[in-house]
Amino acid sequence: MKVRTFLAAASAAVLVTQALPAAAQQQFISIGTGGVTGVYYPTGGAICRLVNKDRKEHGIRCSVESTGGSIYNINTIKGGELEFGVAQSDWQYHAFNGTSKFADNQFEGLRAVFSVHPEPVTILARRDSGIDNITDVVGKRFNIGNDGSGTLGTWEVIEAAMGWSRDDLALAAKMKSAETGGALCDNKIDGYFWLVGHPSALTHETIASCDAKIVSAIAPEIDALVAERPYYRKAVIPGGMYPGNDEDVQTFGVGATFVTSADVPDEVVYIVAKAVLANLDDFRRLHPAFANLKAEEMVKDSLSAPLHPGAIKAFEELGLM
Ligand code: GLU
Repeated sequence: MKVRTFLAAASAAVLVTQALPAAAQQQFISIGTGGVTGVYYPTGGAICRLVNKDRKEHGIRCSVESTGGSIYNINTIKGGELEFGVAQSDWQYHAFNGTSKFADNQFEGLRAVFSVHPEPVTILARRDSGIDNITDVVGKRFNIGNDGSGTLGTWEVIEAAMGWSRDDLALAAKMKSAETGGALCDNKIDGYFWLVGHPSALTHETIASCDAKIVSAIAPEIDALVAERPYYRKAVIPGGMYPGNDEDVQTFGVGATFVTSADVPDEVVYIVAKAVLANLDDFRRLHPAFANLKAEEMVKDSLSAPLHPGAIKAFEELGLM
């Protein structure tokens, strides 16, 4: 039986290599995302769904990995263990330019594919915490993001800009995003911070479970950051998006972007970029955070690494460049 299966597989493999054109041979690609209750994970899922729809024609099989987030994704693409990843625009910028956290770890081969949803700094707090703005987190038990997340990286930038040290927090927790909602509702932390698209499952879950509130990120130091750095912009989390959070929340943020390496073949990036941009209506329907995506913006906004040539080919064909 085993022998028969082996022989069948072997002859099938011969058939595949002989009968099908090169482009139709199976090729596996993986997308690094974030925690399963964030927006990166369903973003990877949506991209793969559109790619896998035409798997028979192009032979690419796309799969999604839940990861620690932006910085992990960029470093793992650099190491050649992931072909694609979702990453915050600030960390795309720093990785390509070799600045900030990437000063000793520049990734010149980082390539942009397209940008996705906006990611505002989102602070969730317990109603009894006394946190009404980012400046109130001093002395509180606060989750600042897990290692490898863009969230933690951006927290460190904010911390420096505000002139805070880690000890200014009563507890600086580094739980993964998926664990933070439970910790907040169990009163193990007063608040948590992340950069995420909206609406997002975890934000909704936290608010629905224990009536948490989203608070603003307003400070002169933040105005200065936004004025100085090209990848930050002011942002608003619209009131009414989550129960009991009816007022607009003033904050600032980055963009989520989809990135790859210059080492990934043009043909592969072309197929992936085209699967999404040629089917943007379908893509938008796959997550509510994609509702306002516009093709003309996705091909240029928030991208600081050069576009991958495969993406350029797809966008030219679609009349987007
Ligand atoms: N922006 C977050 C990060 O890189 C991830 C957000 C998400 O999972 O949607 O840490």
